[in-house]
Amino acid sequence: MHEFTKEVEELAQEILDYSLVRLRTDPPLDGPKTPEELYALAGNTITAKGLGGHETFALFKDVLALACISTDHPRYLAFIPSAPSEYANLFDLVVGASALYGGSWLEGAGAVFAENQALKWISDLAGLPESSGGVFVQGGTIGNLSALVAARFHAREKYPDVTRWVVAASAEAHSSIASAAAVMDISTLFIKPNEKGSMQGAEVASAIDQYHSENPTHRVFAIVATAGTTNLGIIDDLSGVGSAAQARDIWFHVDGAYGLAALCAPSVRPLFAGVEKADSLIVDPHKWLFAPFDACALIYRDPTIAKRAHIQKASYLETLEDENEWNPSDYAIHLTRRARGLPFWFSLAAHGTDEYSAAMEHTMDVARGAAELIRNHPRLTLLGDPALSVVAFTRNGWTASQYQEWSDKLLADQIGFVTPSAHKGQPILRFAIVNPWTKMADIEEILATL
Ligand SMILES: *Cc1c(COP(=O)(O)O)cnc(C)c1O
Repeated sequence: MHEFTKEVEELAQEILDYSLVRLRTDPPLDGPKTPEELYALAGNTITAKGLGGHETFALFKDVLALACISTDHPRYLAFIPSAPSEYANLFDLVVGASALYGGSWLEGAGAVFAENQALKWISDLAGLPESSGGVFVQGGTIGNLSALVAARFHAREKYPDVTRWVVAASAEAHSSIASAAAVMDISTLFIKPNEKGSMQGAEVASAIDQYHSENPTHRVFAIVATAGTTNLGIIDDLSGVGSAAQARDIWFHVDGAYGLAALCAPSVRPLFAGVEKADSLIVDPHKWLFAPFDACALIYRDPTIAKRAHIQKASYLETLEDENEWNPSDYAIHLTRRARGLPFWFSLAAHGTDEYSAAMEHTMDVARGAAELIRNHPRLTLLGDPALSVVAFTRNGWTASQYQEWSDKLLADQIGFVTPSAHKGQPILRFAIVNPWTKMADIEEILATL
């Protein structure tokens, strides 16, 4: 198993050839199958004697890969697609081949150094201080949870008599906030956003003050503002919410898993004013910063708090404790970690940040173009101008099941992948455009089916 034989050499060639073709060409959309269908095609793959490398790879290429939707397809516009740059994907091959350990400076100094420069680009864009720092974690869900755990740790030190911890967030906040609250066994205070879906500072201030006056032994320890909701791309009033948090000695966390990527896009940069007040923030390079799954940048204004909250103590780990060394393991809920920020770092370093700004602006131009087509479409109603790159609309007269039937057929016909969502209780469609590969012609092709 660990010898590089002639057969391994051949398989390596086959795998590299496949990977290059996959990178070079427009992939088919493909789509899911049932477990029964897959079993009929693939059978039981785990056997005592093994299927052999070539055979197993054939099974992947011919069966399994075809049952996975290509999330980088130019007409995959559901959820938040993935759009890794060629360089980022290529470098993922290197990360996979190199047995890099990204948890500690001792073992992975070079990788951690590079990841930290990529993180610093983000924290500089956000206007956080030089002393800020963080780590790439698996995704926004773990990023949000890790930030909130650090926030509560800090609050516990300052307010030892509190009987119940509470996180405040918009009613439109991502589901991962409620999930974090459940994991942490804390309460939630969901605040009504304005008509446009954006949570405002004044509402946050009055909701928290009222909550505290009604529940004197409870304490809101963190406020989460969303910088670009997943459903519609709406940005909360970061400056007002940040000030409301600061005035109350409450941790200000900005969930920018999708939207904060656009900090590097000059045309929308001002929408994020106030993000510099954040005590912590997240952004997922695997969403809109052209990195492969899975990478969430989690950044703390004061990483020493996060370290005290998250560091794991064990006799076999003591050797890693050096005040002057940056151990990524210490800043989130994890220990062993893949150097998952490296594909992002490689692409960013190689292309330069200007290309990122340009690619980001391009996706927003396509989103605005799509909005224009929808506005002028006789059977569609645009929900509003896209704040970032999510375009939401309705098909006049359709019921929820008609939306679903249309979506299923769009995928079955291999035209595109667009799933229904909902807004204010009504079914909607949304295009999430994060892939520079998505052209106006792709939008037109999908709209032609509506
Ligand atoms: C996607 C998303 C998350 C969750 O991130 P994962 O990487 O999917 O765990 C959290 N918040 C927002 C606003 C998101 O868009």
